[in-house]
Amino acid sequence: MSFSTEAESDVPLLSEAHSGIPGFLLEKAREAKASVFETRTKPHSSRKRLPVIPPGVEEPVFLDALEELRKHLGADNVERNDKPLKDGWYMEHPNTHDMMAIVDDEELVPSAIVYPGSTEEVQQVVLWANRHKIPIFPISMGRNFGYGGAAPRVRGSVVIDLGKRMNKILDISPEDCTCLIEPGVSYFALYNEIKARGYEHLWIDVPDVGGGSVLGNAVDRGVGYTPYGDHWACHSGLEVVLPTGEVIRTGMGALPGNNTWQTFPYGFGPYSDGIFSQSNFGIVTKMGMALMPNPGGYESFMYTFPNEDDLPDLIEIIRPLRISNILENVAQLRHITQTLASRGKPRSAYYTGSGIIPEEAIHAAAAATPVGDCTWIYYGMAYGPPHIRQYKLSIIDAEFKRVAGARRIDPSTLPPDEDFWARDRVAAGVPDIQELRWVNWMPNGAHIAFSPVSPIRGADATRLFALAKRRHDEFGIDIFPVFCVGLREMHLIVEIVFDRADPARRRAALDCLRCMIDDAAAYGYGEYRTHLVLMDQVAGTYNWNDGALMKFNEKLKDALDPNGILAPGRCGIWPKRYRNRGWEMTKASGDYMQGDAFFE
Ligand code: ADP
Repeated sequence: MSFSTEAESDVPLLSEAHSGIPGFLLEKAREAKASVFETRTKPHSSRKRLPVIPPGVEEPVFLDALEELRKHLGADNVERNDKPLKDGWYMEHPNTHDMMAIVDDEELVPSAIVYPGSTEEVQQVVLWANRHKIPIFPISMGRNFGYGGAAPRVRGSVVIDLGKRMNKILDISPEDCTCLIEPGVSYFALYNEIKARGYEHLWIDVPDVGGGSVLGNAVDRGVGYTPYGDHWACHSGLEVVLPTGEVIRTGMGALPGNNTWQTFPYGFGPYSDGIFSQSNFGIVTKMGMALMPNPGGYESFMYTFPNEDDLPDLIEIIRPLRISNILENVAQLRHITQTLASRGKPRSAYYTGSGIIPEEAIHAAAAATPVGDCTWIYYGMAYGPPHIRQYKLSIIDAEFKRVAGARRIDPSTLPPDEDFWARDRVAAGVPDIQELRWVNWMPNGAHIAFSPVSPIRGADATRLFALAKRRHDEFGIDIFPVFCVGLREMHLIVEIVFDRADPARRRAALDCLRCMIDDAAAYGYGEYRTHLVLMDQVAGTYNWNDGALMKFNEKLKDALDPNGILAPGRCGIWPKRYRNRGWEMTKASGDYMQGDAFFE
């Protein structure tokens, strides 16, 4: 089968492709690729649902429209999506579908993919979409795995892959510690460029895996692990193509001749940036970002805690330390099951039975690792010169040791491939890919996240963990919880790893997620971000005052996008011509977009 030859090919380098791997991670990428394909049994999907055409458009009209677009962008920059769907893997990911599909592979697929090379060409695509009333869906890098990857929400949309040709680092200011970038700049690329220019005093903030778009991650409100981990909060200035084709620059960017676009985010008047994040109100073509000054030293630390029910005490200890910035970064409190999976071996290496892996099997395996047995692991970092670090670390040590059985792990006892060192690099702004390892827990491993937000309180942590565990038990899924602690809130990220080639396990993962979202909402918790198929459900939980916020979003949508062409349904926001016509994906509607026959 074709996937075996794919496994033998090499990994594209950053010097060859905007989405490639930097040289210093090449060996690691090769290993990651080999282990992905070791357990891969899923063949490429031969297409059963062709042709894919934008909804409401006849095929010949669509083909003529594509010809028209080729004249603007060049023939090579407009591709139909009619070949077999290749899942690839993280570094060689598709822009034709969600490679971690949670519903039928061919459900969330574009009809075509286009590659504009400039803001002007993005405008051309938008004007074209308005002329033909064709839905378009922008992606930057398309590595939004767990949340839909490169897939559009409406089947048959035209994906605008911005990253392939718009991947310039437009500016790095070593004085202001800022940068200005296009959508196709990955964390790998930004990191490499800063090193190449010799700016040792500048750090970037990276998420768990460094191949994503710096811009795409920020607009989707992703996080990283240095003190600059709230990416959206660290951006300053956007250039946006509106759904009707006009271009705006936000903040100081509106002032001709300014030199403050990347240093003062607000400008004058209403702060408009917010409506371009997690929305479908514009296509972001440039973004400014703050860079962190090198803190002059850093030191990772790691504590383990023995029991599952240490959780509330631990969270109560973390809160004041985090709010007062003694704990300085978006740190992680991880459960042992995910930590074990991070060693990269499949679950079958520890347990070959069916159902949930028994706790004894997890603890026996953990006891045999260099870290030893435990249930929760805290990964953190102290920044600054040694005496400053020492001050903070001694407070942290005294506080964490209040939990009976807490152990500080001496990093010098840990081998170089230990997860601790990958967390250490990420918290020091060095992009990595080690985090891909836990996806190999299942054959054909894919993941999708439940990501509720709560205050940093023990009672909230206990309640959320208990509800997630109850539903995981019900659906026979091993639980992978991690608490990512922000300054005054925490995201609980529960990644469900499932075998994407097994429809029954896919269904269990989706059903489990839908139940957890409803359970959490009943307690007053909401998700900070979600997968395409869950957006209607999650948006529906933010329904205070008879859905007043969604009504406001719909007003904005109708004003900004009268033809409803830009990413219909993204984040649950439907344009007027789609609204209330059966496009929502909910538990009741099933796995398919139901909407049809809606066009006036
Ligand atoms: P990454 O590769 O960083 O994970 P993606 O390119 O997949 O990010 O972007 C995540 C999501 O954010 C996309 O699915 C898309 O809906 C939205 N998005 C990405 N880039 C833009 C952009 N330039 N303008 C508007 N929305 C965007």
